[in-house]
Amino acid sequence: MNDLKRISLADYDIVFDPALSILKNFLAERSYSSIIVLADENTLKLCLPVLTHALPKLSEAPVISVPAGEQHKTLATCEEIWADMLRAKADRNAVVINLGGGVIGDMGGFAAACYKRGVDFIQIPTTVLSQVDSSIGGKLGVDFRYGKNLIGVFKNPALVLISTKFLESLPSRQIVNGFAEVFKHALIKDAEQWSVLRGLDILASDGLDEVLYQSLLVKKAVVEADPFEKGLRKILNFGHTIGHAVEAYSLQHDSDPLLHGEAVAAGMIMEAWLGSQQCNLPEEVLMDIILTLSKHYQHYKIPEDAFDEIWASMALDKKNAGAKVLAVSLQDIAQPVIDLEITPELLKAALAFYKTLA
Ligand code: NAD
Repeated sequence: MNDLKRISLADYDIVFDPALSILKNFLAERSYSSIIVLADENTLKLCLPVLTHALPKLSEAPVISVPAGEQHKTLATCEEIWADMLRAKADRNAVVINLGGGVIGDMGGFAAACYKRGVDFIQIPTTVLSQVDSSIGGKLGVDFRYGKNLIGVFKNPALVLISTKFLESLPSRQIVNGFAEVFKHALIKDAEQWSVLRGLDILASDGLDEVLYQSLLVKKAVVEADPFEKGLRKILNFGHTIGHAVEAYSLQHDSDPLLHGEAVAAGMIMEAWLGSQQCNLPEEVLMDIILTLSKHYQHYKIPEDAFDEIWASMALDKKNAGAKVLAVSLQDIAQPVIDLEITPELLKAALAFYKTLA
């Protein structure tokens, strides 16, 4: 048990535990009054059996199931969760196990943090994205009327348990989607991991423990240094300024829209190109980034007339300072540059460059 990979933060641990073996003792030590499992319709079917196989006692725990998908990450769904918790007579010493991707982790954590002024929660992330990104850092919340993640709190989980076993049922598009954050972590802070990643031809669910562990170490180092996103944490936005805007454009116009990570991959290419223009990122490094990402992410055809919409959505980005649109770029692998101003001309040029890669 001691040879499990463990990342310790100030007040909780992240444990890589394929067999989920430490959960039993953890729950016994904490003597919670009750255990509630939160899942979405997919993780209920595909992940709950893995969890109850590891810890049969959990078969008796009340399970709250919510519909899958970002559109259900809302206060209305939280109300259903709170009502179910009240029906299950959960008191302030209860614990919620969030079994799912980033949607369940963000929303379940938020629901737990508010229920009776806060009960403990355990994150058991079941997607690549949630295993390397959303389950760590304490950001919880739901989408609200005008946009994503507008209502929420910072609160840390009691424990994060990572088992790559769950990834066996994850559709391959979702695996590649979550991997965009793995690439990002390497590009902003881990040159050694970048050389491992550039050698991967296929992104599959097996043999990922070490890659995911190294990726989490990057996020850990960043969130520990800047828990409330005052400075350094900005580097995690690499690829996201243009990426978010491209994602929003695709959601608006495409019948099969880009997933978040697919848009971020395009964003990383364009923001790296800005680095080659503004921050001396060497040409061969830019080419290496493009070749590596293009192995896994299809080129997205951005129509000529998309500029206005993409620019407008970047101008609304909550990371901007006043009227300036700010992004993160690179001057080399693992050498990020923050607060790079993007003008409309630079965005136009970046989009034009991206188009030449088709
Ligand atoms: P998700 O939770 O919607 O999961 C994607 C899909 O995969 C869903 O349909 C889900 O039901 C399904 N699924 C999950 N695990 C599965 C498994 N093991 N097998 C089969 N299907 C499975 O999406 P996501 O990409 O994990 O997370 C995206 C969310 O994360 C967004 O809401 C985003 O805002 C949030 N996020 C939060 C942070 C943070 O710091 N809190 C960081 C990044 C992203």
